[in-house]
Amino acid sequence: MFSTGIDVGRTACDAAEPHTVEGLVYQVCRWCGTASFRKLLCPVCASSDLEPGRSDGHGVVVRSSVVNRYSRVMRNESLVRFPEGFVYRCRIVGAAPHLVSVGDRVRPVDGTTSEAGEVVLELCDPPLTANWY
Ligand SMILES: [Zn+2]
Repeated sequence: MFSTGIDVGRTACDAAEPHTVEGLVYQVCRWCGTASFRKLLCPVCASSDLEPGRSDGHGVVVRSSVVNRYSRVMRNESLVRFPEGFVYRCRIVGAAPHLVSVGDRVRPVDGTTSEAGEVVLELCDPPLTANWY
């Protein structure tokens, strides 16, 4: 039994695979099927009969805005459209706030898509200026 350690490449590959992200829990109206997020009532028919659905949290920026511009707490808050059919204002990280643009794909940051508080997403494809190394 000789351990050569040659297998490390394989384990590094496994480590790169994202462990299951909790994603986002949204609501689907039982009456009209409209998806919403963090709403108590269906935005279309005002039914409170909502059942939870689970999104992997991958979405696309539909409106990008920088809040607290010119201050140290400057950050990006973008409206993100999710394929399940709802739009939500999320905080975007992974790039400078002014470099987040409409059409950018975003995904949840590990462990930060909590059920309370703000939803934090990161850019799937950070702008080229991030590759400064
Ligand atoms: Zn409805």
